[in-house]
Amino acid sequence: ENTSNKIAAGEVVERPASVIKELVENSIDAGATSISVDIKNGGISYIKVTDNGSGMDEDDVEIAFERHATSKIKRAEDLDSIITMGFRGEALASIAAVSSVELQTKTASSTYGMYVHVVGGVFKEVRQTGCPVGTTFIVKDLFFNTPARYKFLKKDSTEATYISDTISRIALGNPNIAFKLTSGKSTLVHTPGNNDLKSAIFSVYGKEILKELLEVDYQDERFKISGYVGKPESARANRNYQSLYINKRYVKSRTVSYAVEQAYSSILMKNKFPFFVLNIELNPGLVDANVHPAKMDVRFADESYLSRAIYMAVSKALNSSSL
Ligand code: ADP
Ligand code: MG
Repeated sequence: ENTSNKIAAGEVVERPASVIKELVENSIDAGATSISVDIKNGGISYIKVTDNGSGMDEDDVEIAFERHATSKIKRAEDLDSIITMGFRGEALASIAAVSSVELQTKTASSTYGMYVHVVGGVFKEVRQTGCPVGTTFIVKDLFFNTPARYKFLKKDSTEATYISDTISRIALGNPNIAFKLTSGKSTLVHTPGNNDLKSAIFSVYGKEILKELLEVDYQDERFKISGYVGKPESARANRNYQSLYINKRYVKSRTVSYAVEQAYSSILMKNKFPFFVLNIELNPGLVDANVHPAKMDVRFADESYLSRAIYMAVSKALNSSSL
């Protein structure tokens, strides 16, 4: 059981940033409007994620660490689960198998909260505690019992950069949620959560980008495509400034990148890549999409239809501006 959890951990937990991605996505699923992350040593020795979401009840805290334990199956028909079903209920079990995890959580209806401590997949302590509504996870000493994996971690500052990138991407997909990432005394990411995508983009990329943004607003029978693309002069030397979301989940898609770039093809210099933050909302009955959760690589059954829709959406944004 423990061994299989450790193996499963390899699928979901590659580095501190992937732990944080899973914890923060759980916070989002729990309806949080404010999520704070604090790290030490690039998240290798210490990660703390605090949310003001629904919290967990006494009956649920231990189950949450079991493999394939999920409270989200009932939402199998939700848009969101289309792209996450495959690895449902793996994350907490996987993280707890390869670290020390402390959980503090309380629901609004309970008079007390719960504290749980799991080390290497073994429960050390489960007790009632006093704490505010919401959930805090503290993950310490990642991969302490899997030296082969520990060895593959990069230096603290590099891991911190991965984390910062992860939080930034998630924040850009969820402008209704306030995110804060700190490492010791320094604040690495801070978004307002005022439900304005432009504000989130400003928080992540700085003021200069704002005058480069063109709004994307497109709808057909399968997709609603919204967000911003950058004017050609804001194009960058690589694709790191491209963020794609499907129903608010950050994903990667070559198809989408190529389709966006196609729309710029006549106006962009060689080896320059357009900036974009795009959210695609799917009509779930009409679209078959799949994502590998660790790679975040999304595949559509009908990629050429998607290409065309993206091309149209971006062309419309480019044409609407006085370039
Ligand atoms: P999944 O997210 O796929 O359901 P996880 O292993 O990530 O699986 O989480 C297991 C369960 O723990 C969730 O289904 C949820 O019920 C509970 N849970 C985890 N994190 C939180 C949180 N921050 N707030 C409330 N419940 C949570
Ligand atoms: Mg999860």
